[in-house]
Amino acid sequence: MLIIDGKKVSLELKDELKASVDRYRETTGKVPGLTVIIVGEDPASQVYVRNKAKTCKEIGMNSSVITMPADTPEEHLLDTIASLNLDPAVHGILVQQPLPEQIDEFAVTLAIDPQKDVDGFHPENLGRLVMGHLDKCFVSCTPYGILELLGRYGIETSGKHCVVVGRSNIVGKPMANLMLQKLKRSNCTVTICHSATQDIASYTRQADILIAAIGRAKFITPDMVKEGAVVIDVGINRIDDPTTKSGTRLVGDVDYEGVSALASAMTPVPGGVGPMTIAMLLKNTLHSFERTHNL
Ligand code: NDP
Repeated sequence: MLIIDGKKVSLELKDELKASVDRYRETTGKVPGLTVIIVGEDPASQVYVRNKAKTCKEIGMNSSVITMPADTPEEHLLDTIASLNLDPAVHGILVQQPLPEQIDEFAVTLAIDPQKDVDGFHPENLGRLVMGHLDKCFVSCTPYGILELLGRYGIETSGKHCVVVGRSNIVGKPMANLMLQKLKRSNCTVTICHSATQDIASYTRQADILIAAIGRAKFITPDMVKEGAVVIDVGINRIDDPTTKSGTRLVGDVDYEGVSALASAMTPVPGGVGPMTIAMLLKNTLHSFERTHNL
């Protein structure tokens, strides 16, 4: 079985992005800039934001982090976004989720200029993805990273049956729409399953490409997978494991040990889809910079 190594690919991608940033610095005197806003003190969000800032620095992009207290009024956050929308040095704006209760996440998504929405969450970007205007939109980073992985591993997708389990706005729905596009790199017949799907295994067993974005540890078991399928595991679930120092460990939505005996290719957790997400965020930020400066 082929292990689809997202860690390795994300490092290659970061080298490529760094080369582009270095070239643009020399030719234009400018570099792409990403601003991340974090509201509150959610420890997991703080780790994600630190990683994003660190990776920006590694590839030579400008990054800034705006930290706001948990009781920040929505209006103040929206005002900050409005001023970042107008700042020519900012090419990407990301507001780390989850947000505190008093802030409407959708209002925040709508407030970000679609041209700077490097998360790809704005309805204009999602709409353009659905309509196939991929060169003019930002695609949500996790699905975009999965497409990149499939492409770099030369996995044939055209005409294949792709089954996506999960229909969230940030993973399942954009993923399914991406795989549906009339592009050489996708062009699949797509089925989407969710919590109300009856006899889910009858669908997943038909998948040539099975993408699990559920958030339930080891949900996909070997009896749900066709022999030779390509299996992409998006899930990140922390489970108890007394054999580790911390007493816990991360597992995906797929029973890796069982399913790897059947699959032809598979992403591990950790080290599969996860590392690609930040890399694609920076790729989107570079694209935003290139569009702004007609490069
Ligand atoms: P959500 O909770 O927003 O969505 C989960 C989806 O799974 C929903 O559509 C839900 O169905 C479906 N689902 C839940 N239980 C079942 C079930 N028993 N049978 C069938 N479908 C079910 O999660 P996300 O999409 O945000 O994330 C999914 C997973 O991916 C999580 O583990 C998350 O941590 C991980 N993730 C990883 C990323 C990475 O970079 N690797 C990035 C983003 C997420 P319904 O709509 O009916 O409720």
